[in-house]
Amino acid sequence: MNLDLLTVLWVTLLITFLLATAVLAVAWLGRADDGLVTWGWALLFNGGANLAFVLRLAEWPATSIVVSSVLTSVGMALHIQALVRFQRPRVPAPPVALVWAPLPLMLVLSLALVERHQLRSVLNSSVWCFQMATLAWLAWSPRLSGPREYGRQLLALSAGGLMLVFAYRVGRFIVADEWGDPLVVPSRIQAASYLVGHAAILLSTIGYILLQKERAYELLRQQATRDPLTGAANRRTLMEQLERSVSIAARNRQPLALLMIDIDFFKKVNDNYGHQAGDAVLCELVRRLEGRVRQHDVLARFGGEEFVVVLPATDAVGARVVAEDICRAIQERPFVVEGQALPVTVSVGVHARVPEAGPQVAGQMVAICDQAMYTAKQNGRNRVELL
Ligand code: GH3
Ligand code: MG
Ligand code: MG
Repeated sequence: MNLDLLTVLWVTLLITFLLATAVLAVAWLGRADDGLVTWGWALLFNGGANLAFVLRLAEWPATSIVVSSVLTSVGMALHIQALVRFQRPRVPAPPVALVWAPLPLMLVLSLALVERHQLRSVLNSSVWCFQMATLAWLAWSPRLSGPREYGRQLLALSAGGLMLVFAYRVGRFIVADEWGDPLVVPSRIQAASYLVGHAAILLSTIGYILLQKERAYELLRQQATRDPLTGAANRRTLMEQLERSVSIAARNRQPLALLMIDIDFFKKVNDNYGHQAGDAVLCELVRRLEGRVRQHDVLARFGGEEFVVVLPATDAVGARVVAEDICRAIQERPFVVEGQALPVTVSVGVHARVPEAGPQVAGQMVAICDQAMYTAKQNGRNRVELL
C-alpha cells in the first residue's frame, strides 16, 4: 500500500486544528482550571508543526525543518505539562528541566544539522522518543492506583505507541538509504508515523476528557462519603458500611465489634484555645486513629467529636485490646497545636457480638456502643467500657 503523505498530512492538520479549537473552547467556556487548556495549546503547536512541515514543499526546507522540529517538541512538552496539571498533587511533577530541555536541544540540533538529514532525523526522533517515554511514564504512574482511571490508561497507551514509533524510526533511519526524497525523510516511514501520531492525538483527547470526567466523579464521591474537616468517612457511609458488615457477619456467624470514641472535655479545648485549635485536634485524632486500625476497618466521624470504628471479624477481647491501644496512643503524647502542647484523652465504648441479620441491627449496635461510651464517661473518662 502506498500512502500519499500529503493527503495524510492535510487530514491530520485539519483534524488537529478542529480538535484544538473544540478543546480550547470547551476549556475556556467551562473555566476549567486543569490541564485541558494546556492540552488545547499542545494540539495547536502540534498542528503548527504539521503546517511547518508543508513548507518543505514550498522550497523552504531549512525553515521547515527547524520550525516543525521545534514546534513538535513544544507540543510534546505541553502535553506533558497538561498531564502534570491533571495529576497534581497526587503525582509529583517531573523536574522542569526534563520537560523543557528538549526544546533548546531540538533548536540547536536542527539548526546545526539542517543539511545532515540522516543524523538529524536519528537525533530528533531520539529526543521525541524520550519525550514520549516521559509522558508514558507519567500517565502510567504506578503510584496512582484505583478503578475507573481509563483516561490515564488511554494517555499511557497513546504515549507508549508514539514512543515505540519513534524508537522504530531511529532504527530505520540508521539503516535507511533513500534520502534523496523531496520530503527528506523516507516518505513511507513518515506517512506511517503521521497515522500513528494522528491516532495518538485522538486517543489523547478522549483520554483528557475522560480524565476530567473521572476526576469530577471522584470529587463528588469524596464529598458524598467523607467528612470535609477530618477526611474520615461520614455518618452516612458509616451506616452503609456497618449494615453491610452486619449482614456478612450474620451470614458467616462471625463476631463484629464497634468502638465509639469521644474526646474528653472537648468543649474546654474550644473554650481555652479556640475553635481552630479544636479543629486541629480533631484532625490529629483521626490521623492517630488511622494509624491504629486495619485497612478493612471503617473509621467514621459520627458527630462533633465522636468517632466510630467498625472492626469486622473481631470479638470482645480483641476489640478491647484495640480500644485500650487507642486510649494509650491518644493519652501518651500531647497534641501539638500552633506550638502549644494540649493533653487530650478519649473515652471509648465497645460493643461486640455475633449479630443477627435484620434492618435494625446496625442502629441497635451503635446505640449500645454509645451507652458503653457514656458508662466510660461516668466511670471517670480516659477509659474503655464494654457492653
Ligand atoms: P465529655 O468529656 O463529656 O465528652 O465533654 P465534652 O466537652 O467533650 O462534651 P460535649 O459533647 O459537651 O462537647 C462537645 C463539643 O464539641 C461541643 C462542640 O462545640 C464541639 N464540637 C463539635 N464539633 C466540632 C467541630 O467540628 N470543631 C470544633 N472545634 N468543635 C466541635
Ligand atoms: Mg466529648
Ligand atoms: Mg460528645
